[in-house]
Amino acid sequence: MTVVMDDVVARESRHVLQTYRRNAVTLVRGEGVRLYDANGREYFDLLSGIGVAALGHAHPGLARVVADQAKTLIHTSNLFFHPLQGQLAEKLASLSGLPRAFFCNSGTEAIEACLKFARRYWYTKGAPRQEFIALDESFHGRTLGALSVTSDEHYRQPFEPLLPTVKFVPTNDPAALLAAVSTSTAAIIAESVIGEGGIKPLTPAFAAAITDACAKSGALYIADEIQSGLGRTGHPFYYQALGVQPHLVAVGKALGGGVPVGAALVSQQVADAISFGDHGTTYGGNLLACRAALFVVGEIFEGGVGENVKRVGAHFEQRLRAIAAKHAIVKEVRGSGLMWGLELKRDAAPVVPAALAQGVIVNRTAETVVRLLPPLVITEADADEALGRLDAALGAVGAGE
Ligand SMILES: *Cc1c(COP(=O)(O)O)cnc(C)c1O
Repeated sequence: MTVVMDDVVARESRHVLQTYRRNAVTLVRGEGVRLYDANGREYFDLLSGIGVAALGHAHPGLARVVADQAKTLIHTSNLFFHPLQGQLAEKLASLSGLPRAFFCNSGTEAIEACLKFARRYWYTKGAPRQEFIALDESFHGRTLGALSVTSDEHYRQPFEPLLPTVKFVPTNDPAALLAAVSTSTAAIIAESVIGEGGIKPLTPAFAAAITDACAKSGALYIADEIQSGLGRTGHPFYYQALGVQPHLVAVGKALGGGVPVGAALVSQQVADAISFGDHGTTYGGNLLACRAALFVVGEIFEGGVGENVKRVGAHFEQRLRAIAAKHAIVKEVRGSGLMWGLELKRDAAPVVPAALAQGVIVNRTAETVVRLLPPLVITEADADEALGRLDAALGAVGAGE
């Protein structure tokens, strides 16, 4: 394949809606934790396409099942049974403690489903509740419902009015949450580890306050595990590390390893409130998506990838903290497993091109945070090499202060 970077950029600039400010790199091929651009240049991937490529790139097993399924049957719609949705729902139930799954095509759609199911739960009970409580550093997606529980004014303002019944409370402030919740609250929604907001794990005390607030008011608890779920933090879901059990969980990103699929997982109590026709999607949980997800979930939880996250995650943290200690521009290191944020004392934007120049892919979020979400299959040796390059990039940015 010959790809000329200038042609790619020129064609996009004419015909692709300009909603993304892209890095000046055209990626054409991947292998494990490595990506290659149109010029054949190699990059270590410490981002996984924003937490999606859990098994790395061009995984031979994933490629095999996707090709096999494509040759057999890709899609039937939800008007018919197929053998794979139940199998995937059963696996997710055993991992999450929530017995039922609704399949969709993205993280945002999983959030949208959770919000609708929470409203439907109260409607079915004959005591409708409209209010949602969300956190003030939250990101839950870009559709109007998901955006309504997303805090960032920059994302919200051009699209207002959004749902008027959302209250925001400060992250990790138990007293503020307990003061905000009432018998009007349909659900409390929280990322278990704040992702776009800068990689901030909820504290166990705050998670306990969510449980208390729900017990006090009857409100449901929706955990957004789209970024933190499925082994990323060294736990199947991070709420398990926090010692709590949500009523609804939103899953996405890593689930299909790159094949778009999301899921809303719900308790039996919530499931009992849902009727035929309440919600639906044409693609959701089709054979291709479920086959990919069954493979990814199998590799993570039965194929040793989850253990790799624990082992390499501990090593990764140690290396990252050692690097952070060397650079005066680093303020704090936060995360768990293979989900890390490096908060700087300055805007982190220049770190991204500096890292690309060193041959490593990272991302900046919440202005000052360098976000690291490597493939869950990364080895210690590759982590050392990639973090060594990040070290050099931080040095280059720090030297320009
Ligand atoms: C990415 C993300 C979403 C949105 O998922 P999409 O697949 O982009 O729709 C929602 N919540 C969190 C925590 C995310 O990281």
